[in-house]
Amino acid sequence: MTHADQPPAFPLTTRADPMPEDARMALLADPGFGRVFSDHMAMARWSTEKGWHDMGVVARRPIELDPATSVLHYAQEIFEGLKAYRAGDGAITLFRPDANARRFRQSAVRMAMPELPDALFLESVRALVRADREWLPALEGGSLYLRPFMFASEVFLGVKPSAEYLYLVIASPAGGYFKSGSPSISVWVSEDFTRAAPGGTGAAKCGGNYAASLQAQAEAIREGCDQVVFLDAVERRQIEELGGMNLFFVFDDGSLATPPLTGTILPGITRDSILTLARDEGLVVREEHYAIDAWEADARSGRLRETFACGTAAVVTPVGRVRGRTHDFAIGNGGPGEITSRLRDRLVAIQRGEAPDTHDWVQRIT
Ligand SMILES: *Cc1c(COP(=O)(O)O)cnc(C)c1O
Repeated sequence: MTHADQPPAFPLTTRADPMPEDARMALLADPGFGRVFSDHMAMARWSTEKGWHDMGVVARRPIELDPATSVLHYAQEIFEGLKAYRAGDGAITLFRPDANARRFRQSAVRMAMPELPDALFLESVRALVRADREWLPALEGGSLYLRPFMFASEVFLGVKPSAEYLYLVIASPAGGYFKSGSPSISVWVSEDFTRAAPGGTGAAKCGGNYAASLQAQAEAIREGCDQVVFLDAVERRQIEELGGMNLFFVFDDGSLATPPLTGTILPGITRDSILTLARDEGLVVREEHYAIDAWEADARSGRLRETFACGTAAVVTPVGRVRGRTHDFAIGNGGPGEITSRLRDRLVAIQRGEAPDTHDWVQRIT
């Protein structure tokens, strides 16, 4: 889209004090998740008078906010999460970034924020990865996690859509997401708290959804589980998703099911990719409601063989145990099931450029 003779949409102002190579390499040896950040950030501003302006890639630095900045009071904020990978031939790739761009616009609409055009979203991410390509860990399974986000930056305490927004993209080198060593996670069924209600913001990737999930997540940890699983807000019966990952169920006839996108579930790009890969394999996949009592009964009878959670950060993670005030059951043999492992391996192989990209999901950064 951008012609060679056009100036880049996100011009780079190289940082004067990048991290020295030895310090960077020490951090990249074991980055963990979300604690180490690269040298630069992409940014753009929006105002009612100017629209999108001030695009660029600049030194990553703290941002100063007036105490009356709108987002600090009314939480008009959305974000995205995607990863850059190093392919076998050394090229850096992104996985379905166009889907993140589209979802970012959809989240913006729900939160009464301006839509960032897909071309600007994609170019902001590419420009940052180009600037900070040295921050991509060479580790097995390593990636550069990219976090585009946008918030209401107008200084005003009136309750209304902000007249100004700041859009930023930061990059964080990542190893694994969950602590390694455990083959599966345990989940706690929240019976007191819900994540999203019909007509609410459950399908938007907004920070407020996460704020609302933290008390339930803390309860899960207190109960000795890794993650919380939410039920629907109306009947408190249908399984929805984890705080930040979608769920899949695998049955003894080889079919899969995942809760449908009815507005209370985040439309995961990993979820969509798994649906496609499963159908490619000839598996029967249903997007349908699945009740907590059926999950327990089917796990006990053996009709349900596997359950896994999926999302960009942790890719595919098997669920081995389910607990709650009135629930306690194991899934399969507690480890990753056969179909879970196969779908995970296929997805990772495509993301890493090790398997044919038959759906045009992988974009190379030049
Ligand atoms: C981001 C997110 C997911 C996973 O989406 P991916 O696009 O697969 O990373 C699932 N649930 C929630 C609540 C999320 O915020």
